[in-house]
Amino acid sequence: MSAILISGKDLASDKRLEMKQEVEKLTKDGTQPGLAVILVGNDPASRSYVKAKEKACHEVGIYSVLQELPESVSEQELLAEIERLNQDEKIHGILVQLPLPKHISEQAVIETISPEKDVDGFHPINIGKMMIGEETFLPCTPFGIVEMIKSKDIEISGKHVVVIGRSNIVGKPVGQLLLNENATVTYCHSRTKNMKEITKQADILVVAVGKAKFIDADYVKEGAVVIDVGVNRLESTGKLCGDVEFDEVKEVASYLTPVPGGVGPMTITMLLHNTIESVKRKLKATV
Ligand code: NAP
Repeated sequence: MSAILISGKDLASDKRLEMKQEVEKLTKDGTQPGLAVILVGNDPASRSYVKAKEKACHEVGIYSVLQELPESVSEQELLAEIERLNQDEKIHGILVQLPLPKHISEQAVIETISPEKDVDGFHPINIGKMMIGEETFLPCTPFGIVEMIKSKDIEISGKHVVVIGRSNIVGKPVGQLLLNENATVTYCHSRTKNMKEITKQADILVVAVGKAKFIDADYVKEGAVVIDVGVNRLESTGKLCGDVEFDEVKEVASYLTPVPGGVGPMTITMLLHNTIESVKRKLKATV
């Protein structure tokens, strides 16, 4: 068996074409969607993520502003900047690129962003709404993963999903979203015993560990759908790779996401989606 690849790149490109038309219409009707991104310090990886987000906004016609603040900025100054953006009528989404310097509380920052502009979906109010299945901004990476699975008409209801990883931004919410889709969900993490026995039962296996090629074919049931969230740079070649041993697992899985070109492009696309959604909700509320 050779797995069918789920290309996040192709799906993202189709979705962005649709979004471009939607943004054109909203702009023509008087409200251009706007996204503000705050970058603190000079971390090269964070800078490249922020640049990719700016480029994507430009591609679909979303107005974007980048606020660059020095590493030394105080928590109070950063929170004041967020408060200012909360009041800015031209801004519908606010994103603070993580991680932040150690002297700033990430939780305080996340909780200062207005839930109505929290297009990353990290605010506790939005996480709570996601848990109870209310309309909200869904966190972008998990949201993108669900869209990728659905794009191939893969049945989720009743399936056993195993998620490896329990971070607040990927593992936990992706399990919750798939539970909301009526899957039976099991989480594995660094304290899990006999992990192979559990992952071998998965109809859909989501891997978000952050360790290059960590999951080989021995962890995967024949015919499983495998979603590789990991982004790792190989020291030997400098190339990007996922958490899944791609060449082996593609011979066992029915569907597999590549790295690069898989979950990554969908994450940014869902950020654009949430920014557009924010405008639509605001317009609906003012009718
Ligand atoms: P994270 O916060 O470091 O979480 C990693 C998770 O893996 C933790 O829950 C950890 O368990 C678990 N883990 C670590 N070692 C393990 C082991 N030996 N066996 C089982 N579980 C183990 O990472 P993250 O933010 O969720 O990101 C995960 C990966 O996804 C990274 O490569 C990241 O770069 C990538 N990512 C990609 C995108 C994208 O858009 N493509 C977005 C976000 C993240 P404990 O909780 O017990 O420590």
